[in-house]
Amino acid sequence: MSGKNVTEVRLADAEGIAKAARILESGGLVAVPTETVYGLAARADSAEAVARIYAAKGRPDFNPLIVHVAGLPQAELYAEFSPEARALAESHWPGPLTLVLPRRADAALAEAVTAGLPTIALRAPAHPVMQGLLAAVDFPLAAPSANRSGFISPTMPAHVLASLDGRIDMVLDGGATTAGVESTIVAVRADGSVEELRPGPLQLGARGASGAIEAPGQLASHYAPGKPVRLNALAAESDEFLIGFGAVAGDCMLSASGDLTEAAARLYACLHEAARAPHPRIAVAPVPEEGIGRAINDRLRRAAA
Ligand code: AMP
Ligand code: MG
Repeated sequence: MSGKNVTEVRLADAEGIAKAARILESGGLVAVPTETVYGLAARADSAEAVARIYAAKGRPDFNPLIVHVAGLPQAELYAEFSPEARALAESHWPGPLTLVLPRRADAALAEAVTAGLPTIALRAPAHPVMQGLLAAVDFPLAAPSANRSGFISPTMPAHVLASLDGRIDMVLDGGATTAGVESTIVAVRADGSVEELRPGPLQLGARGASGAIEAPGQLASHYAPGKPVRLNALAAESDEFLIGFGAVAGDCMLSASGDLTEAAARLYACLHEAARAPHPRIAVAPVPEEGIGRAINDRLRRAAA
């Protein structure tokens, strides 16, 4: 299935979703819109299908995947839910929150999904297309962002094709995603405490993770546009493509009105445009470190690293 060199782009209507479900059943790869970014989905219970995700992305196999489920009852088949974890799922699912929890010993999933870790990352996404797809199949979906490893995340079908055309079976076209940055990831510890592993659209006020890197999305270099990126720029040098925000007018605007939610939704589109532009370097205006601005700056720092 995957490995063939034609990637079909299909409108995410009922027929498109039904076709995608058949491709996934037979172990193929489908890029699917979620409320955060497009995910590259494969059936999480098949070692072969999951191996195809790693191959298509060129992703290091020590970097585990998020498993997407329809809701809490399905999630409980794969992870041990403490009362604290259950409360978080009940108040934020479906939505842009990924929970890292102890993996159940009897979880019927490909080992590579969790990259040998004793924990598993689970999320119930809110996007109607991803929800429709999860309802159409009887297995959970492993889905990292639908881009080559380390490259800019996709918020529309053209972004998926920019790095995965010919490497995956299908893109379900659901238009541009709304939140624009990847889910907030928190780990719920045995003592009930909650640690933020990756900032995202949802602000829980959890303390940041200390010590060892356990989510490779935390690696210093990620989301890289393939050229130097200068942060906190108030104006462009002559050879720079400027990504603007608020009063700093640029070649691509995150948000002219200084709206952080709009800026998050447009972040990767501006980075893709900057990557395609003839300018050898990219500059980015300052973005306030508040609310979803924390997630925007987190991604920008890694794009600049
Ligand atoms: P992406 O590849 O952009 O979808 O990001 C998925 C993120 O989830 C990566 O940063 C992974 O490292 C992280 N992740 C997945 N499973 C786990 C886990 N068991 N523990 C910690 N982080 C995880
Ligand atoms: Mg990614």
